[in-house]
Amino acid sequence: MSRNAVAKVRENSARPMRLTVLGATGSVGKSTLDLVSHSPGRFEIVALTAQSNARELAALARLHNAKLAVIGDEKCLPDLREALAGTSILSAAGADALVEAALMPADCVLAAIVGAAGLRPTFAAASRGGRVALANKECLVSAGHVFTAEVARSGAELLPVDSEHSAAFQALAGANPDTIEKIVLTASGGPFRTWQREALESVTPEQALKHPNWSMGSKITIDSATLMNKGLELIEAFHLFPVGVDALDCIVHPQSVVHCLVSYVDGSVLAQLGAPDMRTPIAVALAWPERMVAPTAKLDLAKLGSLTFEAPDEERFPALRVAREALHRGDTAPAVLNAANEIAVGAFLGGKLKFLDIANLVEHTLEIAERQGAIAPASSLDDVLAVDDCARQLAEEALQRYV
Ligand code: NAD
Ligand code: MG
Repeated sequence: MSRNAVAKVRENSARPMRLTVLGATGSVGKSTLDLVSHSPGRFEIVALTAQSNARELAALARLHNAKLAVIGDEKCLPDLREALAGTSILSAAGADALVEAALMPADCVLAAIVGAAGLRPTFAAASRGGRVALANKECLVSAGHVFTAEVARSGAELLPVDSEHSAAFQALAGANPDTIEKIVLTASGGPFRTWQREALESVTPEQALKHPNWSMGSKITIDSATLMNKGLELIEAFHLFPVGVDALDCIVHPQSVVHCLVSYVDGSVLAQLGAPDMRTPIAVALAWPERMVAPTAKLDLAKLGSLTFEAPDEERFPALRVAREALHRGDTAPAVLNAANEIAVGAFLGGKLKFLDIANLVEHTLEIAERQGAIAPASSLDDVLAVDDCARQLAEEALQRYV
């Protein structure tokens, strides 16, 4: 690090970091605010947002003395106002208010809304410059090219929160991309890693929501069970790290201790290890290039005894192949993949789609979108949002065939 950069870090660390959390009531949002609670004086909360849980949002805003609390669902504004009565915390509601929250002056916006719903606010956070700690992977999957172009234009500092990408970021340590042979993301394999294909036919939402290692929101937990999550993460890595599609891979590692491995041309392989606790990658993104204390369980390798690895099985978990193909197809194929997957996961959770049909529905939607010419280059966020919308309609129509 240059002397100037060191001086800037010291200067910045002398005052609290002004932090906005988009998706504050979610799994990542709450882990972030838990870190904030454990570091008194280090952060100043600017804005917190949620979709519909007004009571919880108000409680978090009160606890952290936020300046602004924004609820996505406008019907919940009266509840939010009531729960904030007697405080000076400002409140607002609706999609535009989420964007305004992201645009408030802050040193860092932690983007943890789930799904493409996070696109506009996360994009707004990037447009403002400053640090964006990105958990909302769907944003990079759907809008990777336009999002990274916006980051480059505004000079924002994009730091990954997804644990595998945080691991890659740390193991890459600014290396010359030409010296990197492979970035290998690890996958736990989910709750059905050892299940036969026939048994996967009758998986219930309850079974799929029981992740063996991580405690997360329901959408990403289902994505982890289908391995779509790893497919989304390959696309995310493609946009974060300029090594090209062929240098990206994944491997199943049931213990979720090694999060990513980076192989260099000289045969060195650098890995990042840590207990499966999102507070570690969140702390990295908040404090980088410094380190901050995170109250996580410490890794005890002797107790663990062994770390194992195996190749992913794309026959039993076709979502990974479908996502990889969308990455190779490029243009807006990943946006269609993501939108169709959101519809499919929602339908599975609602009891309207079988587990194995999640990947089928996504693949089917991609085929229809291709035939209809909906997969094309996107040059703006509006282009991406239009494709997202179209893909949702196609997926909803296709869903009728599976009912
Ligand atoms: P979650 O479901 O627990 O929380 C989602 C948050 O987004 C909540 O605050 C919710 O109120 C808000 N939200 C939901 N729909 C919204 C909408 N339409 N408009 C505005 N806000 C909305 O999700 P999570 O597990 O915390 O995941 C958040 C993001 O982080 C996802 O993109 C996920 O892929 C990514 N991620 C999560 C983890 C994890 O451990 N949970 C790990 C890596 C990456
Ligand atoms: Mg991950």
